[in-house]
Amino acid sequence: MAIRTLTDLDDKKFDGKRVFVRVDFNVSVSNGAVGEDYRIRMTIPTIEHLTKRGAKVILGSHLGRPDGPDQDYTLAPVAKRLSEIVGRIKVRFAHDCVGPAVENEISQMEGGDILLLENLRFYKEEEANDPEFCKKLAGNADVYVNDAFSTSHRKHASTYGMARLTDTRLAGFNMRKEVEYLSMMRDNPVKPFKVVVGGVKIKDKIGALEHLLPKADKVIIGGAAAYTFLKAKGVKTGKSLIDNEHLSWVSKALASYGDKIMLPTDHVAAISPADTSITMVKGDIADGMAGFDIGNETIERYSAEVAGTNGHGLIFWNGPMGMFEVRAFSNGTTNIAKSMALAYWRGAKTLVGGGDTLEAMKKSGVAENEVSHVSTGGGATLRYLAGDEMPGVSILNGQ
Ligand code: ADP
Ligand code: MG
Repeated sequence: MAIRTLTDLDDKKFDGKRVFVRVDFNVSVSNGAVGEDYRIRMTIPTIEHLTKRGAKVILGSHLGRPDGPDQDYTLAPVAKRLSEIVGRIKVRFAHDCVGPAVENEISQMEGGDILLLENLRFYKEEEANDPEFCKKLAGNADVYVNDAFSTSHRKHASTYGMARLTDTRLAGFNMRKEVEYLSMMRDNPVKPFKVVVGGVKIKDKIGALEHLLPKADKVIIGGAAAYTFLKAKGVKTGKSLIDNEHLSWVSKALASYGDKIMLPTDHVAAISPADTSITMVKGDIADGMAGFDIGNETIERYSAEVAGTNGHGLIFWNGPMGMFEVRAFSNGTTNIAKSMALAYWRGAKTLVGGGDTLEAMKKSGVAENEVSHVSTGGGATLRYLAGDEMPGVSILNGQ
């Protein structure tokens, strides 16, 4: 069932109404200043859709994992940055997220105003989905909007409990786009469908892979994840990072889908990440050595597969191809990022997800607008792809 979104509600129903929007402003802040502000900028379409229709926009978010009220985790710097971004409107900031001070701030709002509430996680009741806290949050809202897909796998007060108490609940534009892309990929992917998986956390990715393996035409594996696959095939992997706990799952995946799984055939190996005398290794990796990146021959094969599109198809990339943080081991990841951009410009749909993957992509000089969809969901993205229940999404369907 499609989720209800902002455009499904008559414009007039926003006019003068208090609209609570759950956003993900969990950005990095240092010395009172916001670093990367992509997560803030991406909420502009949702916020401005509402302000232009005369809504009183009340934004709620968490920041970090504070243990009670803690000024190290205040959202005040985010209010300042949002003010700079939206320019024409002043963004008010409430020093609390519920209670008399907030009610007073809201009573002074006019249609088109924006108020950012203080960090929801200053209350332990937020993550506990405490009924009283939900009531307080919902009491300040006529309409509920969720634009924070990244927290929608959790039953928190602001993602679930307060929504249940609000009659009108809608998806923001980011939430809608995320759900549309991910459900298309999970249930009915555009063909040919290629998946590029790297990074380290096989455990977190198994659920998603179980869903994607049968649907994908090619699964390209790099990063540390590749060594567990190679070990399962009997290739010597030296002291490369292996996930022994999931070796048997990997063997089964190879037995069922081996013909569509691509694995590295050469590697950039070293004794340790700090080792400067790196070697290109073909095939087996000697004892005492570890693979930290895919080798040139593999890069060529993988790049050709990723960028080789006839103007259609879908490619999903999650997980760096090597230890990209170290320059000597960043080549594989940089090439995949550039091939993803090339596939996009050639007309394929491309989707990139994962905290480290996004960082690596930008480090490679590929911008967010060179990807069809950037999934900021992290854990939520993998859970959605695995077919897990997403309380924050289902509640928007009225369940
Ligand atoms: P994401 O956050 O995009 O989901 P992961 O967290 O799964 O990605 O993996 C990212 C990490 O994987 C990076 O810190 C990177 O250094 C590491 N990594 C990738 N390849 C290797 C490798 N061959 N050996 C050790 N670490 C690796
Ligand atoms: Mg990571």
